[in-house]
Amino acid sequence: MSLLINDNCINCDMCKPECPNDAISIGEIHYQINQNLCTECIGHYNKPRCQLVCPINNTIIKDYNNIETKKHLWNKFILIHYNNKS
Ligand code: SF4
Ligand code: SF4
Repeated sequence: MSLLINDNCINCDMCKPECPNDAISIGEIHYQINQNLCTECIGHYNKPRCQLVCPINNTIIKDYNNIETKKHLWNKFILIHYNNKS
């Protein structure tokens, strides 16, 4: 499943540059994750990079409304990084 950023976010910008999929952006109130681009960092890191760098506990959490299998996340990784490249 992709991750989401909740209201604990203090807009510190630590996570955005760390995302290998460019899935994090500045939202209206706090930073947000594009569920179409978040792969839980599969293909890049063993653990979600944004969670590792976020200084506020329990701010970047699993989105249980958007459950995806590992296979789905791998397919997303391939689509993001290898599709449309010649
Ligand atoms: S888990 Fe990885 S891919 Fe998803 S938003 Fe965080 S850094 Fe980006
Ligand atoms: S690192 Fe955490 S607190 Fe900082 S912008 Fe990202 S989600 Fe918000």
